[in-house]
Amino acid sequence: WSWWDHVRPASKDPIVGVTEAFLADPNPKRINLGVGAYRDDEGKPVVLQCVRDAEAKIAGSEFLESISAAISSKLVEESLKLVYGKDSNVITDGRFAGIQALSGTGACRLFAEFQKRFYPESQIYLPDPTWSNHHNIWRDAHVPRRTFRYYNPSTKGLNFAALMDDVKNAPDSSFFLLHPCAHNPTGVDPTKEQWREISHQFKVKNHFPFFDMAYQGFASGDFDIDAKAIRIFLEDGHLIGCAQSFAKNMGLYGHRVGCLSVLCSDHKQAVGVKSQLQQIARAMYGSPPVHGLLLVSTILSDSDIKSLWLREMKAMANRIKSNRSALRDSLENLGSPLNWEHITNQVGMFCFSGLTPDQVNQLARKFHIYMTQDGRISMAGVTSGNVSYLANAINQVTN
Ligand code: PLP
Repeated sequence: WSWWDHVRPASKDPIVGVTEAFLADPNPKRINLGVGAYRDDEGKPVVLQCVRDAEAKIAGSEFLESISAAISSKLVEESLKLVYGKDSNVITDGRFAGIQALSGTGACRLFAEFQKRFYPESQIYLPDPTWSNHHNIWRDAHVPRRTFRYYNPSTKGLNFAALMDDVKNAPDSSFFLLHPCAHNPTGVDPTKEQWREISHQFKVKNHFPFFDMAYQGFASGDFDIDAKAIRIFLEDGHLIGCAQSFAKNMGLYGHRVGCLSVLCSDHKQAVGVKSQLQQIARAMYGSPPVHGLLLVSTILSDSDIKSLWLREMKAMANRIKSNRSALRDSLENLGSPLNWEHITNQVGMFCFSGLTPDQVNQLARKFHIYMTQDGRISMAGVTSGNVSYLANAINQVTN
C-alpha cells in the first residue's frame, strides 16, 4: 500500500496530444495544425511589436507592487471598453464588477465558481461542440453541464433552428455560455440578425448570457465588430458575464492576462459582486502575476501603442483570412469534387474542416500533418510555404 496507489493517470488533453505527436515526428514536411496560437508565415510564434514597445516602457517597474491594484483597475476598465464600447455608460455608471483573471481559462473558472456559490442548483448550457476545457472547468466547479445544439455537420454552418429550440426548451433562467466571435472549434458564428433573435429569446426566457471572448479581433480584424454580439445583448438590457483573454490577440499566452466582468443592475450590486469575486480569487491563487498586467495595461492605455496593437491585430486576422482563401483555392484547383466553401465562410483561428477521424489519422501517418481528431484545422498553422502540400494531402485522403 502506498498513499497514491489509487491515482490513475488523467486522460490526455486532446490538444497537448497533437503537439506531442508533431514534436516526435522528425519529418521536415511536418505541419502542426493543432495549437490555437498565432504563427507567422514561417510557422514561427510571434512577439508583437506593441508588446516589445510596452516591454521597453515598463522596464524595471514591476517591483512597484504597491501600484499593482491601481493598474489592475485600469486594466479592467480598458478591457471593458473593448467589450462594451469606449463610451459605454455602463462603465461610467460603475455597473460592472470586474477583476483581472488568469487569462481566459482563469476568468471562466472564477465565473463557474461564482455561479456555483450564488446559484448552487443551477446548470450551465454549453454549445455542442465547444472548447473541450469548458467541460472540465464547469465540472470542477461542480456545476452540472448540459449542451445546446450549435453546429450542423451537413452545412458545416450554424444549426440556428436547433439552437433556438434548445434556448426555448431550457428551463427559464438558465446559464448559457456563448462564444461572441470566432467560435472554437467550428469557426461558425451567428449573424447579427441571428444574435438579435438569440438575445430576444434570452429575454423571454430570462436566461443569463456568459460570453467567453478568447479571440476578440480574430474574426473580423476589428474589435468593435467582433464585440457586436455582446453589444446587442447590452442594448437589450441583459445582465451579462464576460471572460476576456489577451493570450491570442496580444500573443501573450504565457503571461496569463485576462479579465472577468459581470454587469450588474447598479453600482451597489457591482460592489458586492466584485468583493465576492475577489474573495474567490484570493482563495484560489492569491493574486495574479504582475508583469503581464503591466504589459497589457500599458498597451491599452498608451494611445500610440494601442493603435499599433490594433494594426497588428488586423494584420494577423488578414493573414488568416488569406490562408483560408489559399487553402480553398488550392483544393479547388486540384479538382477536388468536394465543396470547400466552408473554409472561407468560417471565421477566426479555426476551420472545422469536416475531415473524419480516419482521414485525420491518414494525414498524420502518410503526410505528417497533425490536427485534433474532430478535424479542426488551426488556420494560423497554414503558410504560403505549406499550403499546396496541405491541400494535396487533404485532396488525397478525401478522394
Ligand atoms: N476560451 C476559448 C473558447 C478558448 O479557445 C481558449 C483557448 O484556447 C480559452 C478560452 C482560454 O485561453 P487562455 O486561458 O489561454 O486565455
